[in-house]
Amino acid sequence: MTYAAFYQQSIQEPATFWDQEAKLIDWKEPYTQVLDYSRPPFAKWFVGGQTNLCYNAVDRWLATQADKAALIAISTETNTENVYSFAELDREVQRMAAIMLGLGVVQGDRVLIYMPMVAEAAFAMLACARIGAVHSVVFGGFASKSLATRIDDAKPVLIVSADAGMRGGKAVPYKPLLDEAITLAQHKPAKVLLIDRGLDPMPLVAGRDVAYATLREQHLDAKVPVTWLESNAISYILYTSGTTGNPKGVQRDVGGYAVALASSMKHIFGGNPGETYFATSDIGWVVGHSYIVYGPLIAGMATIMYEGTPIRPDAGIWWSIVEKYKVTRMFSAPTAIRVLKKHPSELMKKYDLSSLKALYLAGEPLDETTSSWISGELGVPIIDNYWQTETGWPILSVARGIENTATRLGSPGVAMYGYKVSIINENTGAECAANEKGVLAIQGPLPPGCLQTVYGDDQRFVQTYWSNFAHEQLYSTFDWGIKDADGYYFILGRTDDVINVAGHRLGTREIEESISSHPQISEVAVVGVEDKLKGQVAVAFAILKHPEMVVSEEGRRALEAEVMAVVDKQLGAVARPSRVHFVAMLPKTRSGKLLRRSIQAICEGRDAGDLTTIEDPASLLQIKAAVIA
Ligand code: ATP
Ligand code: MG
Repeated sequence: MTYAAFYQQSIQEPATFWDQEAKLIDWKEPYTQVLDYSRPPFAKWFVGGQTNLCYNAVDRWLATQADKAALIAISTETNTENVYSFAELDREVQRMAAIMLGLGVVQGDRVLIYMPMVAEAAFAMLACARIGAVHSVVFGGFASKSLATRIDDAKPVLIVSADAGMRGGKAVPYKPLLDEAITLAQHKPAKVLLIDRGLDPMPLVAGRDVAYATLREQHLDAKVPVTWLESNAISYILYTSGTTGNPKGVQRDVGGYAVALASSMKHIFGGNPGETYFATSDIGWVVGHSYIVYGPLIAGMATIMYEGTPIRPDAGIWWSIVEKYKVTRMFSAPTAIRVLKKHPSELMKKYDLSSLKALYLAGEPLDETTSSWISGELGVPIIDNYWQTETGWPILSVARGIENTATRLGSPGVAMYGYKVSIINENTGAECAANEKGVLAIQGPLPPGCLQTVYGDDQRFVQTYWSNFAHEQLYSTFDWGIKDADGYYFILGRTDDVINVAGHRLGTREIEESISSHPQISEVAVVGVEDKLKGQVAVAFAILKHPEMVVSEEGRRALEAEVMAVVDKQLGAVARPSRVHFVAMLPKTRSGKLLRRSIQAICEGRDAGDLTTIEDPASLLQIKAAVIA
């Protein structure tokens, strides 16, 4: 079948299409209705069906591949490597589930998981899924204030955490931050379950804190039956990255999510049981949920959980893992590849990468230079894919499991099946013509796997996502894009990142892409800054590949002029940044996304705004210094 035909069927007959896909997972009780869309924009998938995420990820593989690797936990921080077979994973998950039940967790209760990248974090997620508790994983890098906000929103009865994580060889304490967060929060969890890694002292609060190791000893032979859940029960809550402000609590279902993951593993990633999948993300992000924990396991694959940076002990570490575990599919982010690019590629060439079939990248725009470089190094297809925490699986990509569709540089691909994607003119609400800029929107119902609502706030779900266009109720992605004549999409930036220069609307992304084509530039952020004359002007902050080569003020000016000339030539003078500042670091969220709103605020002399998700606040000082200079 061609991909075009496959896609058309998913759009024209969604019920028939997804009924077919639903066979990829195991059901305890069949559903009575594939889709209930009687109350748009709320979609219910596989109504009445009973299933369980943990059962599909673990139990169902016990009959055929109990002894095959399921979870491979590697830490280059503590120098440990543990391989759990499906049978061993099953035992650990049942122990964890028994502990949770013993601590009073019942079906529907929220369990907040604030953990480093250790196997126990996956056990905890799967244990929640097993007993019907709702997990809310909060990225371990967040400090107490961010954590407190999420505790108050999710209201967990139990928090699972650890003494510390480790990064770059240094212990990063978790427990003191957690204690502080619980003090700050209005809501108090009844119990806190703590994994002691022996990295940092961990005093327990009497009556509240319990040690995992002790309880595990008591539950070594625990058997906890699967709690069968109606397909539309809540599986988890996950907060968005907070790039554009206050994070939203994305709420996901059980059956639709399981089907979407099984289906995407087959058609988009083309993974097979017995193979190894390596996603370099963190369990605190959506990629960690969908493609570290649930997706690969549901597909019967071994999955790698990696604690560490891509460059320690050296920049060959990921490729040594690929060689050792014969990884067939890898998933990472452009940021990580840019980091690797700064290191000698011999480190990569040392390893046998012949098992690897493709590298998937997502999370932020993939610039052509980075994409071409890594493709040249690895000799495998680089597959960009575009999606959001909200959708849970790719909106745009290429479904190579269906047809060997070509990728196109600069484009994350075509609309994935189930997503009725269009580019909408935000003023008229009409669909844009080919190559005309607009907002990337999706017509309801969203396919299985996407958010059910914003946790505890249906109103915010409707208001935020479905009320942005005249005439029609469409889901807004808040990203600008264009679709070319062949159906390939290009993402041009976020809707709040658009620049309006004397009436011309420019995507920050277009200008950034143009500037990065200059051979001296390794990374760049462009923001729109208020200007009396033109309304707004573009201002660029760029990181140089070889900053040591630009020493004099004269040299700096010359380079700035060169960069401007590149933009003039490629996009025209309206897009030319009024200034190109050279900095050593750009402000990013913990998930690696550029915080343009903060850069913009500083340029306009305002407060940098909500910085709870920033990676390194020092990056803002650089921006400030550059602007003042
Ligand atoms: P918030 O919604 O809280 O501001 P966020 O949008 O950064 O945070 P995520 O859900 O993690 O949170 O990120 C999704 C966004 O990341 C997309 O809407 C898009 O802007 C960007 N993105 C993801 N993948 C790609 C890609 N392949 N190319 C370009 N942009 C991408
Ligand atoms: Mg978003």
